Amino acid sequence: MSGTDDCVFCGIVAGDIPGRIVGESDDAVAFLDANPMAPGHTLVVPRTHRARLGDLSREESAAVFELVYDLAPDIEAAVDADGATVGLNDGPAAGQEVGHVHAHVIPRFDGDGGGPIHVAAGERPDLSDAELDDIAAEISD
Ligand code: AMP
Ligand code: ZN
Repeated sequence: MSGTDDCVFCGIVAGDIPGRIVGESDDAVAFLDANPMAPGHTLVVPRTHRARLGDLSREESAAVFELVYDLAPDIEAAVDADGATVGLNDGPAAGQEVGHVHAHVIPRFDGDGGGPIHVAAGERPDLSDAELDDIAAEISD
């Protein structure tokens, strides 16, 4: 999906495609995932079509994460969850299937059989101190 016309989340934001909206602000909208990993599984999207996290303006980013922050406790309470996994698949390599940025809030339950977010990246690489130093320097440059 590349743009507004063929984007299912743009359709939900516009009201053209049915969605169970659970919260909204000027720049972000939250709705239930149609194929949930758990009861209450919610997606939070920018109103404007943006493919990747890095495509968001600072204001759009703030709006998405603020709505996550505002709704996560309500989502957990609504389904009597014990916690939540919060994250987003940024890019196809990370498993992003819908090309409109979306944060997942997935309620978690004691003994639900799921794993921590660490399992998303596969095996841990064996990095030396020098490699870690180089990466830190590259990021903070
Ligand atoms: P991702 O793999 O991070 O791109 O996740 C896409 C999510 O969008 C999946 O969890 C789908 O169940 C969800 N999804 C796809 N179509 C719809 C829709 N029409 N309404 C709500 N959620 C949807
Ligand atoms: Zn879109």
